[in-house]
Amino acid sequence: MSEFDVAVLGGGPAGAHAAMAAAAAGLSVALFDENPAAGGQVYRAPVEGAAASGGADQEAGNTLRRELAASGVTTFFGHSVWAVTGDYRIDATGPHGAAHYTARALIAAAGTTERVVPFEGWTTPGVIGLAAATILLKSQHMLPGQSTLVAGCGPLLAAVAAKTIEGGGRVEAIADLAGIGDWLRTVPALLARPDLLRQGLRWWNTIRRAGTRRYARHTIVRVEAAGAQLRATLAPCDASGRPVEGKRKTVMADCVAVGHGLTPSTEVTRLLRAQHRYSREAGGWIAVADQDGRTSRPRLYVAGDGAGIAGAAAAAKHGTLAGLACALDLGAQAPARLQSLVETARDEFLQAARAGHAMANLMALRPGHVDSIGPSTIVCRCEDVTRAEIDAAFDSGAHDVNQLKAWTRCGMGPCQGRTCGDIAGELLARHAADASRERVGCFSARTPLRPVTVEALSGDYTYDSIPIPKAAPL
Ligand SMILES: Cc1cc2nc3c(=O)[nH]c(=O)nc-3n(C[C@H](O)[C@H](O)[C@H](O)COP(=O)(O)OP(=O)(O)OC[C@H]3O[C@@H](n4cnc5c(N)ncnc54)[C@H](O)[C@@H]3O)c2cc1C
Repeated sequence: MSEFDVAVLGGGPAGAHAAMAAAAAGLSVALFDENPAAGGQVYRAPVEGAAASGGADQEAGNTLRRELAASGVTTFFGHSVWAVTGDYRIDATGPHGAAHYTARALIAAAGTTERVVPFEGWTTPGVIGLAAATILLKSQHMLPGQSTLVAGCGPLLAAVAAKTIEGGGRVEAIADLAGIGDWLRTVPALLARPDLLRQGLRWWNTIRRAGTRRYARHTIVRVEAAGAQLRATLAPCDASGRPVEGKRKTVMADCVAVGHGLTPSTEVTRLLRAQHRYSREAGGWIAVADQDGRTSRPRLYVAGDGAGIAGAAAAAKHGTLAGLACALDLGAQAPARLQSLVETARDEFLQAARAGHAMANLMALRPGHVDSIGPSTIVCRCEDVTRAEIDAAFDSGAHDVNQLKAWTRCGMGPCQGRTCGDIAGELLARHAADASRERVGCFSARTPLRPVTVEALSGDYTYDSIPIPKAAPL
């Protein structure tokens, strides 16, 4: 078992910058990530053998990976962390099986999970997440489909559609929950980030030049298999995402890439029983933390989108803040110098977060959208729990999400509620007069945080290695 001053969970912009800041302050730092290289979701490295996709994200990722490699941080890539204990023992499975590490402090920078508001047929093969499509495009340089319907909300709509077109694919249509006015309202915040504004305009220009139809204020209501293709039905919707009367459109495609925003990944901080609060603007449940990422639990910090959705640039600055806060709390040398770095990083974080928050607003969960989930639609896809079963459980007395979990197995499958937790909570809350998410709570986190095989835990042994106790004397 190896010991470190700080363990950092997550090798995205937040985790990498947190680790580098703590290491630069003289601490021994271990960084864990299940991916083969640093970069997280946004700066994902291409898999071995795949052509690099190029572009600004790839460049930024390469720079991050170079800086991290030179920083003195001990990195554990290809390691899935499946348990963390109260004394910061990290249990992971990696290329050589199970491994354990200990640290005096933990920085959780676990990023986000994609949200998909269920609709009829969303579990049909060929329907994938919008954010998942970025993984195919970035790390494998593969198109989600030869012909793709792109649907949902937020900046990933434009990113996926433009990159699919640039990669030689056809985007049949874009169904956007937002209206033009919603996008225009983001412009003032984006003026401080001309790079993002330029990138967005370039994407929309690519889409326009390809002649792709864009249906503003439209939502997918059904997808069904039609031979080798998928038939998607789109309906006009109001600002809350609720389908309204009006002409429905049918779109045929061989892939439907759909996503309705991102929710912070809080499994580790929930497992460690830090205090949490619900924030619709931040994307869902987040750990209660000060501006530098200190949580309610001693020597536990949060950073990046896992602490509230604010985008990649803000995640990096937030990571630096958490790394510095941790170094100060662990008594690293030159505290005055570290404190002045904190002041600078706080200003930079606030500036970067402005654009990120405007984008997060576009992706916030819309209540009318959740209301429109049909009774027979599956909400928990691991355990096949439908909306009707969730409503029936509420009527029988399951008034918080953990009661719901025990009643129906919703959230008890391999993803541990990462996919359905947000929607299940919203559905329960919508039964209550005040629709309070705080009242219905969030799933208690349980190990294993990631699926883990018995083989990885047991390692190599034969039956001869099993100690057989001697028979007790009569
Ligand atoms: C699938 C997906 C694709 C996205 N694509 C884009 C994009 O193209 N452009 C964009 O601007 N934003 C994208 N985002 C949003 C993006 O997450 C952020 O803005 C940015 O990457 C946040 O940085 P971060 O460091 O906070 O988190 P992340 O970059 O998400 O990094 C967190 C890291 O922690 C790792 N991790 C989490 N839990 C564990 C565990 N138990 N064990 C081991 N490792 C773990 C994750 O694998 C990940 O590498 C995407 C989000 C998702 C979910």
